[in-house]
Amino acid sequence: MTPDIRPLVAGNWKMNGLKASAAEFKAMIEGYDDDLARRVDLMICPPATLVLAFAQMAQPSELAVGGQDCHAEASGAHTGDIAAEMLADASATAVIVGHSERRQDHDERDSHVRDKAKAAWRAGLIAIVCVGEAEAERDEGVTLDRIESQLKGSIPDDARAANLVVAYEPVWAIGTGRTPMPGDVAEVHTFIRDKLSARFGEDEGGRMRILYGGSVKPNNAETLMAVDNVDGALVGGASLKADDILAIASAYRQIMG
Ligand code: PEP
Repeated sequence: MTPDIRPLVAGNWKMNGLKASAAEFKAMIEGYDDDLARRVDLMICPPATLVLAFAQMAQPSELAVGGQDCHAEASGAHTGDIAAEMLADASATAVIVGHSERRQDHDERDSHVRDKAKAAWRAGLIAIVCVGEAEAERDEGVTLDRIESQLKGSIPDDARAANLVVAYEPVWAIGTGRTPMPGDVAEVHTFIRDKLSARFGEDEGGRMRILYGGSVKPNNAETLMAVDNVDGALVGGASLKADDILAIASAYRQIMG
């Protein structure tokens, strides 16, 4: 946790979810009660086909809906892509950019991610910018170098605490059931905080949310969310089930007392 930063638990449904998933999403809305909403922001990023319907369902609760990716351009001849403006039009409030699966599957580089973050801001969305080292990089001892270059290359210069969330997601921890030790998470998150504060100033950088992502589950959420400079979680698999994502968000009932 970081004192004075409101935590965020964001669920990334990836390429999962059909109209029938509305029942599970409804259970999330119902479980996100006033006590939980006082402690932690909750967001679900479903596939693009469900953004509008989920955003409408979520009203008038505080549960937010986000996109999983956007194109850098506002419109044009880009078959199959989705513009940040389209997500905003469908009532999304945020978009994930630079997820490691996008970086791997679509050969996205830091410069693409930076342009997508700019597009998110152009459309009035929060950009959730993902960074994280591969297993070989951790083994070689170059984790912090990798994170530093991703932060530099992927985050535009005019980032503000209100429109940027950084998600630290070690690639080897995503979908594997493996997580770094809390001390390793603390080291990377404190490093990210220092870099953000140095680049954007203590005030802005000190208030930017830094999420941890990679096999966050109900049974490890409290330990991971209590780590210094961990301001919430980006959750993949466990965000598909209302019971699991609500249990993860509920870690803040214990942490905050
Ligand atoms: C993710 O895809 O961002 C992620 C963290 O996945 P999982 O929680 O399934 O590891």
